[in-house]
Amino acid sequence: MAERIMVVEDEQAIRAVIEFALKDAGFDVVAVARGDDALRVIGEEQIDLVVLDLMLPGVDGLEVCKQIRADRVTPIIILSARSEELDKVLGLELGADDYVTKPFSPRELVSRVRANLRRIRTEPERGQLLRADNLEIDPVARTVVRGGDEIYLTFSEFEILHKLASAPRRVFTREELMNHLWQGSFFGDLRSVDVHVRHLRQKVESDPANPTLIRTVRGVGYAFGADVTRT
Ligand code: CA
Repeated sequence: MAERIMVVEDEQAIRAVIEFALKDAGFDVVAVARGDDALRVIGEEQIDLVVLDLMLPGVDGLEVCKQIRADRVTPIIILSARSEELDKVLGLELGADDYVTKPFSPRELVSRVRANLRRIRTEPERGQLLRADNLEIDPVARTVVRGGDEIYLTFSEFEILHKLASAPRRVFTREELMNHLWQGSFFGDLRSVDVHVRHLRQKVESDPANPTLIRTVRGVGYAFGADVTRT
């Protein structure tokens, strides 16, 4: 059965182009123009992925993203006119999975939709519980407990933390981390890694300004700086 994509975009011309490209690629498409319609549809229908514009009438895109994320893990790709919004979009309070900067090619968007669907379809890696400092990383349940409290990480944050912690002290380049996140089908912007790491540090480091767990290795990438025990 075809996967169902909801497109939320108020500009009719852009909406039509996206709808055509996704249908052409074999997806089922529900297209809406307003944020409040998007929230209604996701409450009523099975939707596998959301392509979401930020500037919308009714309820704006940031709010739509937040409300969907409150009780769903449905992948969300944000359409953004400005790359400066990247930070906000990938931010902890929003939890979007990916973004595409306008103007974009329909082919690029279709590739991103496929990549996002593929990565949630992948079986979670079987693995051991990792303990480091006051963190407990469970790759099967995909949970992270810090000092006894479970903390919420986005998909990408979890993958980066787990990858680094599974090989303490080994330096991973940004390319390696992105290729891990995207299973080899990585496109474009390596700054995303830095954004994810910054948010991750806010959540796992005792002093995010002086990180000891996720260390920057200047000119190369990142490394996990603490000892890890496995159970
Ligand atoms: Ca718009």
